[in-house]
Amino acid sequence: MSRCVRGAIPVLIALVVLIAACAPKPAATVPAAKRPLVLGMHALCETDADARVLVGEIPALAKRGVNLLIAEVDYWYDYASHPELRMENPVKKETVKALVAACRSHGIRLVPQFQSLGHQSWAEKTFPLLIKYPQLDESPGKYAGNKGTDPWGTEFYCRSWCPLHPDILPIVNDLYDELLDVFEADALHIGMDEVFIIADADCPRCAGKPTVELFARAVNDAHDHIVGKRGKEMMMWADRLLDGKAAGYGLWEASMNGTDKAIDMIPKDIIMCDWHYETKYPLQATPRSTFPSVKIFTDKGFRVLPTSFRNVKAVKSFIDQSLAVPSDKVLGHLCTVWHPLAKGQYAKLPQLRAASKKIKKARG
Ligand SMILES: [Zn+2]
Repeated sequence: MSRCVRGAIPVLIALVVLIAACAPKPAATVPAAKRPLVLGMHALCETDADARVLVGEIPALAKRGVNLLIAEVDYWYDYASHPELRMENPVKKETVKALVAACRSHGIRLVPQFQSLGHQSWAEKTFPLLIKYPQLDESPGKYAGNKGTDPWGTEFYCRSWCPLHPDILPIVNDLYDELLDVFEADALHIGMDEVFIIADADCPRCAGKPTVELFARAVNDAHDHIVGKRGKEMMMWADRLLDGKAAGYGLWEASMNGTDKAIDMIPKDIIMCDWHYETKYPLQATPRSTFPSVKIFTDKGFRVLPTSFRNVKAVKSFIDQSLAVPSDKVLGHLCTVWHPLAKGQYAKLPQLRAASKKIKKARG
């Protein structure tokens, strides 16, 4: 070491100390108000007419501060890849293109949604996949008329597809691809909420297997295609990944059939749409927070989009509690409505107005 360098050492040390002292210290918490927050709207498109109404609503939604629209189309799109799976009066390609253009010109991210695994029927109506391909049904030939008692002792709710059937992924991935392409989307919401029919005793592939493995397999298969192969983002409803008893949410807004441990078996880059609709939950004996799940997900490393419905008091409380979580993984808020609306009604929804007020204030 040269004399010149040795002489410079104290000066260098002093300089480093000075720089360290002047550098901004990392914040102990991420201030919620400084984040660019998402205000999302989830809308059902069950016919082409519904989707055309939605196109006309985009300017009003943008004015309300909405910057994410999740358009749930399921089997109601006019699929070219699988015309046999179209529902009646499906959403036409030109209507989707009008929606794409409207969202783009108003700065709204448009994400299509396709209900996967569960929700393959509603009330007495079974959706086209399990009608056209009954061999893909997790409980083939059971629950006639979509009625009965499921293995968990609750009233039959919705059919599921078999996550292990070798023919399921080629069909479903075609539908995912078509939606991603026609919506020109950078993400897909795969649903996957409220899966009660899983590991059915009469499924030759799934019987006796742990529900957690089957649920994780379904999530990972979707992720392999949407994120791995297509390079898009994946969103999902988060309820099956929560322990219903520990979180106190019960069997709808969380899982009571063992799927929750899948939270540690799936990629962390999935956006969790964590939906809760009430102001209090009967199983929460001594709640520190009404909505503990937001922190459960951020602690695990997931981004979370807390999601609400029509109870305005719950909407406000959920937004306040979730934005208080010290993590920039809390993305904002998603409002839902579970039936198509008439012209002029979307931006007037009380839940959206309440959420808009809070999110706009938090955006600063
Ligand atoms: Zn199965």
